[in-house]
Amino acid sequence: QTGAEQHDFSAEVGRLLDLVVHALYSEREIFLRELVANAADATDRRRFEALTDGARALPDNAGIRINPDKDARLLTLSDDGVGMSKDELARNLGTIARSGTRAFGQQLENAKPEDKPSLIGQFGVGFYAAFMVADRVDVVSRRAGSDEAWRWSSDGKGSFTLTPDSRSTPGTDITLHIKEDADEFLEPWRLTSIIRKWADHITWPITVHQDGEDKPANEGTALWRKPRSEITDEQLNDFYRHVTHNFDTPWATLHWHAEGMTEFSALLFVPGSKPFEMMEQTRESRVHLHVRRMFITDEANLLPSWLRFVQGVVDTEDLPLNVSREMLQSTPVLARIRKAVTRRVINELRDRAKEADSFDGFWSNFGAVVKEGLWDDSEHRADIAKFARFRSTHGEGLTTLADYVARMKPEQQAIYFLTGDNADTIATSPQLEGFRARGLEVLLLSDPVDSFWPDRLGTFEEKPLKSVTQGVADLDAFPAEGEDATDKADLDALIPALKEALGDSVSEVRGTSRLVSSAVVLTASGMGPDLALSRLMRRSGQ
Ligand code: ADP
Ligand code: MG
Repeated sequence: QTGAEQHDFSAEVGRLLDLVVHALYSEREIFLRELVANAADATDRRRFEALTDGARALPDNAGIRINPDKDARLLTLSDDGVGMSKDELARNLGTIARSGTRAFGQQLENAKPEDKPSLIGQFGVGFYAAFMVADRVDVVSRRAGSDEAWRWSSDGKGSFTLTPDSRSTPGTDITLHIKEDADEFLEPWRLTSIIRKWADHITWPITVHQDGEDKPANEGTALWRKPRSEITDEQLNDFYRHVTHNFDTPWATLHWHAEGMTEFSALLFVPGSKPFEMMEQTRESRVHLHVRRMFITDEANLLPSWLRFVQGVVDTEDLPLNVSREMLQSTPVLARIRKAVTRRVINELRDRAKEADSFDGFWSNFGAVVKEGLWDDSEHRADIAKFARFRSTHGEGLTTLADYVARMKPEQQAIYFLTGDNADTIATSPQLEGFRARGLEVLLLSDPVDSFWPDRLGTFEEKPLKSVTQGVADLDAFPAEGEDATDKADLDALIPALKEALGDSVSEVRGTSRLVSSAVVLTASGMGPDLALSRLMRRSGQ
């Protein structure tokens, strides 16, 4: 072919293609969801770019057109989106921008068959799903703002070519050369039913070419704007699966219309399971902001970061459609929406916390993230403390701070806790012996953020939170149950000898009432930072 440049896929892409094509065979139809989602994203992005560059404005009939050609065995998806330049074609469809491909491969191999499709979406490898049904894929694209078009072409086996091409308007055509055993994806009715199932809420018009005309395939009704009574559970669950890429059902669904000072509709979900790549990539909420149904951005931080596992849509009347990034940062409308939405989610968590078993499930998925709010959200810290759960020496299950306080001994002044890297190790720590022997309950904290929040929270129901590594002195006030008094004379001889031997590596050696069966324990000085925190600070070079 004249002017064709051959490029090899990056090694990761090769591996990934193999995995995607083989592991997901039984769920092949999701290729269409992935390609339509990409087309809708690209159209949204062009709308956004047109705000600052009028020359990139979308045509009036912008949408996504699907055209099956049975005789030629070709399936083409066309969009009016931003398109891709030559470089972008090579980068977006030839490398994997995101890290974590190896992790993806391992999870895919280990995942249950029904979980596999959701992995694809979560790892952003959607485009490659086309090779499940096609033995060759051609992409002709013209970047908005440019006259050039390029053709990317590949059989998904190690390399792709880039060739100059032409396209009369900006946008992208993706043509799949459908495999022998994938005839079903050339049937208009089959394509329409996949769109209904996976892409009904996409607000750009999607058409499927049938009997000589483009027939609308999606309703495009923004589900969140309908009254609850007009939405079926199935529609809600489908939408949930679309926004979260999960295949389960939501743990909580919040759907409401706010009126008054600020008008908006919201449809939010707390996932029923923990996403595989949970929120490690970003510490920000990705709830989608729409204005009058139009998607605007997923970077409006509609919820505080400790609620970033909540996903869904907020759609308002009170912003202009051409809202700029600067405006998004400063408008009081968004500040009001944030406040209202956050309050609503917190109230839901507070209410659902009454169903202990169900809430424990939620907490094991997202508790570690929620606790970040105890550390960095001064406005909502007190709310979180009321429903937060912890392991403790009291028993197997989780406890709330309120239940801990209710069990406190009459003379007990503080809420004791012990932090560490591993839940099982801390449960057997010698640091606990003195407390156990006196029947004093200790919270066992093993998430990284646990080294930070107790200090910030300070007290709960006026009881100070105190690390056991700092709370030893308190033990003398409580009689130990069945303790052998250590011979004081022995200690008086031993301590100077130990001091001598350890020299500058410790600041003090002293007798303690906190141990029962262990001989020695390392402790933080009374006023200093908690032991686990000191260790963490040392590790990060502070
Ligand atoms: P993701 O959508 O999660 O980024 P994909 O594999 O689905 O991953 O797509 C990779 C990238 O290719 C997209 O991020 C986008 O930049 C680009 N892309 C795919 N399809 C299109 C399209 N129809 N128009 C413009 N860009 C596209
Ligand atoms: Mg995609």
